[in-house]
Amino acid sequence: MSGKSFFIDLSRCTACRGCQVACKQWKQKPAEKTANTGSHQNPPDLSAATLKLVRFKETAVGGDFKWLFFPDQCRHCLDSPCKLASDPVIQDAIVQDPDTGAVVFTEKTKGLDINLVRPVCPYDIPRVDPVTKIMYKCDMCLDRVRSGMLPACVKTCPTGAMNFGDRQDVLAMAAKRLGALAPRYPQAALIDARDVRAVYLTLYPVRQYHAFVQAAEAAPGNFSRRSALALLGGNAPRTRT
Ligand code: SF4
Ligand code: SF4
Repeated sequence: MSGKSFFIDLSRCTACRGCQVACKQWKQKPAEKTANTGSHQNPPDLSAATLKLVRFKETAVGGDFKWLFFPDQCRHCLDSPCKLASDPVIQDAIVQDPDTGAVVFTEKTKGLDINLVRPVCPYDIPRVDPVTKIMYKCDMCLDRVRSGMLPACVKTCPTGAMNFGDRQDVLAMAAKRLGALAPRYPQAALIDARDVRAVYLTLYPVRQYHAFVQAAEAAPGNFSRRSALALLGGNAPRTRT
């Protein structure tokens, strides 16, 4: 499997939010008016205007307090449930770039129901603009990548947490980094590496970071990758609440 991939090394993320800001700048997305929720996570969730969000989680791991950071974005699934769900309704409202593998939402998504697309995403990524009804998510900065540049979030990352390149090189980099960290962090893992193009390296159990880090660990009532794909083969999608 060729194309491009991200490697997101959470052991190097300091939650500077440079990636979140760079994404907004490149995509020309507006700031969102928010209220203090008692967390540094701001805005509180992904939206049509926030395609990349650094999630903050205060949690206990092995009796120690940890402050975990998770820069959330579309994983660019190899067999993307969002595209599989939407193609029978509007063909190519969601497209997959043959060279990079990027999964891209087009303006045709305004004809889709978000309650069809969002529930089948194992990572809870798609969001809809309440005014235009167009759906949005990370598009791998395909315009930049086609011009030989790095995605904006990767280019700006000062710590090496965000990495991007040819898939085989990225997977090799990820495996090497996991090998280096595993002796010190026995629960370290590469998440869904065979299925997605945004591969995260976690140090602690995935649910400690966020409910939708790993497809198979989706919260009760939501979908694993397997259940999402099985659903598309048979019954009608259901709404995530
Ligand atoms: S690749 Fe581009 S669109 Fe996707 S999260 Fe990074 S900056 Fe945003
Ligand atoms: S992470 Fe979700 S939105 Fe992104 S390609 Fe996969 S199913 Fe689609």
